[in-house]
Amino acid sequence: MKGKIKFFSKEKGFGFVVADDGTEHFLGVREVIGANLPNNGDIVEFESRKGKKGPYAAQLNILTSSENTEQRKDDRVVCPSCNKKMYPKLIHDRGAFGDPKPRKSLCPFCGATVKDFSGCFIATSVYGDFDAPEVLFYRHYRDTVLKTKFLGRVFIKVYYFISPSIVTILERSPHLTRLIKNRLDASVRKASF
Ligand SMILES: [Zn+2]
Repeated sequence: MKGKIKFFSKEKGFGFVVADDGTEHFLGVREVIGANLPNNGDIVEFESRKGKKGPYAAQLNILTSSENTEQRKDDRVVCPSCNKKMYPKLIHDRGAFGDPKPRKSLCPFCGATVKDFSGCFIATSVYGDFDAPEVLFYRHYRDTVLKTKFLGRVFIKVYYFISPSIVTILERSPHLTRLIKNRLDASVRKASF
């Protein structure tokens, strides 16, 4: 099937492809055919397979590289809903202690949600970045696997309930943060697709 590279980290060797039907697929570097690695926005062709942790892309061919067509200096984002280029508007929530926490970002033209930050509190605070490849990995796992299973849904509810308080503990303990980061790193590496 055909799709578009949503994100690919050459450094980490993995990323995600969104198929034309909207399904997000994990992409490991060894499934890329040819000498060139994909860039964000590349149009690609691949085989959709089902792995233990959700759909993944196999035998991926790059059809159109976005490298030359996309303007490098333009840091605006293309809205997934209306396709206009824009700067997303951040919406904040009040955290447990009155501190502002970004909840999601919206398209200023059509109001569609561009990014949802509400999940993966632990992973996000450990990596300190909403878009760290590892955080995207856990978000993908949550959305494609956990949400479809009953126990997974229960787990997500419990997790959402307890994790804001864990994040507060993490913010005060760099040592614990490092420990958890090592565990998360190991489980990203171990994930067999
Ligand atoms: Zn829009």
